[in-house]
Amino acid sequence: KKLPLDPSEEPGVRMVRGACFSRVKPQPLKNPRFVAVSSPALALLGLDAEEVLKDPLGPEYLSGSKIIPGSEPAAHCYCGHQFGQFAGQLGDGAACYLGEVKAPADQSPDLLLENPCGRWEIQVKGAGLTPYSRQADGRKVLRSSVREFLCSEAMYALGVPTTRAGSLVTSDSRVMRDVFYNGNPQMERCSVVLRIAPTFIRFGSFEIFKQADELTGRQGPSYGHDEIRTQMLDYVIETFYPEIQQAHTDPVERNTAFFREVTRRTARLVAQWQCVGFCHGVLNTDNMSILGLSIDYGPFGFMDRFDPDFICNASDNSGRYSYKAQPAICRWNLARLAEALDPDLPPERAEAVLDEYMPFYNAFYLANMRKKLGLLRKEEPEDEMLITDLMQTMHNTGADFTNTFRCLSQIPCPSEGEMEEDSETVKKATDLLLQQCALLEELRVANRPTMDPRELSMLLSMAQSNPALFHMLSDRQTVARQLERLARLKDLLETNEEQLKAKQTEDWTCWVTKYRKRLARECEGESDAKAVQEERASVMNSTNPRVVLRNYIAQNAIEAAENGDFSEVQRVLKVLEKPFCSQEGLEQPGWVGRGGVEEQGERD
Ligand code: AMP
Ligand code: MG
Ligand code: MG
Repeated sequence: KKLPLDPSEEPGVRMVRGACFSRVKPQPLKNPRFVAVSSPALALLGLDAEEVLKDPLGPEYLSGSKIIPGSEPAAHCYCGHQFGQFAGQLGDGAACYLGEVKAPADQSPDLLLENPCGRWEIQVKGAGLTPYSRQADGRKVLRSSVREFLCSEAMYALGVPTTRAGSLVTSDSRVMRDVFYNGNPQMERCSVVLRIAPTFIRFGSFEIFKQADELTGRQGPSYGHDEIRTQMLDYVIETFYPEIQQAHTDPVERNTAFFREVTRRTARLVAQWQCVGFCHGVLNTDNMSILGLSIDYGPFGFMDRFDPDFICNASDNSGRYSYKAQPAICRWNLARLAEALDPDLPPERAEAVLDEYMPFYNAFYLANMRKKLGLLRKEEPEDEMLITDLMQTMHNTGADFTNTFRCLSQIPCPSEGEMEEDSETVKKATDLLLQQCALLEELRVANRPTMDPRELSMLLSMAQSNPALFHMLSDRQTVARQLERLARLKDLLETNEEQLKAKQTEDWTCWVTKYRKRLARECEGESDAKAVQEERASVMNSTNPRVVLRNYIAQNAIEAAENGDFSEVQRVLKVLEKPFCSQEGLEQPGWVGRGGVEEQGERD
């Protein structure tokens, strides 16, 4: 029902008060068809991918175009802090719940560990208007859906907690996006991802009960409905944290233990992101899962060249959600969750838990990094320094994040009696690592930029003084980034290529030498250095992925899919399902030959 809008509220925002969910009807797609399905994700629901693909109604049901018998579709009302400010009601503007599916009886114990309630929530994302769509259309286009579909499954295979994606459907329904994609205004194909998770409840699900915000004056639409907040908290703990529910009779103790576990999981999640070079891009509180899952894949990015200041979201001007900011931002988000849980969670109890966040994070990060470096035995206090030095060297030399770590397992442990300063091994290792570094190549590229630097500067200053024009520049990100890169390289351009090469070689030789000394101590007292090396290599190669979803790989799959060829999406999915395996078929050249392809995710 169309309700009159409250004039004091943002145009198009309809407040849904005193409720957490609204019943909705997904809008059917015209001629829905599968782009790809994920067999392991569909298996969670007891569905066989082959059968689903054969079923002519498969795409209808899995896109919400036809309603599965028994399903009561609903959209969730949530709030959120966006870019540091309380934004009031947001809610599922494009996604909707289809319902809950009981896990098949033979679901593997591992999966039940991750999901103790034994059933999965399923959602269709892009299924049309809901009461929370605001001025937008509730649709998702093919490029953003391909990115969400592939990244969900890639993250799962990397061992990073995440919501899952069961299928990707596209259609002949079309919507106009406000971006001039590929240089032309286009109608794009409506597409729907089937998302699967134990629950999609987020920090923002509790913020709808927030009282007026000091800065923005907004309040959650359900402020004052304390009983619903407590009910929702009870539901979340009983259903998804049963051990905590069972361990406590006192509600404050129980709620504190719950908040501590969410804090621990969130710290673990960010540590894992950092360790695979993943940047989420939109870490607003409404994109923070109450289970510590990665949720909502928009302008995310896996880093190629390592840069702690890496920003993957083109509208994040201040770098609030840059790679290096992620750990602190997630702590900030936890503090907002704590506020929303007050008084079920007393502020002084929350404060004490928040003090544990950084120690949790550091412990997870260090443990993960030690595995990545193959330091499996003795822990040494200097290990942290060795890791910091590695990151610094990677940054200084423009090293590719994924490939550099993958190389480290090829650096052998010194065998008994072998000179620590074994210069041949160090030299070989240095050469190997130098091959992963982009800086020299960037210097050469900067010397012959694809666009005249003056032309670039002119475009940018025009665009800056005219936001509408900036918005229209089809590849405004490329332009901005090329300029940024040129600015970074200005000093470099004055240095000489030979000197730069010598400096980089020296940096890597120095680090490799330190690493070898550390490895010698790792092997001390071990009779079989070869066995140690084999064990290291095996742990490292199952911690350091050979492939990640780089932007240009997603982009190639998107372009093929937009031209009606879905095989590249399917092929990339198969490769990403086994990211640690040495396999043919998906070259990972890192920065090399990327052809200037930049992030093309949908802006919301
Ligand atoms: P996000 O930045 O992706 O977390 O989205 C912020 C808000 O915008 C959420 O309330 C989304 O549900 C909503 N939203 C995103 N995309 C759309 C869309 N295409 N139509 C309607 N609402 C949307
Ligand atoms: Mg979101
Ligand atoms: Mg989103």
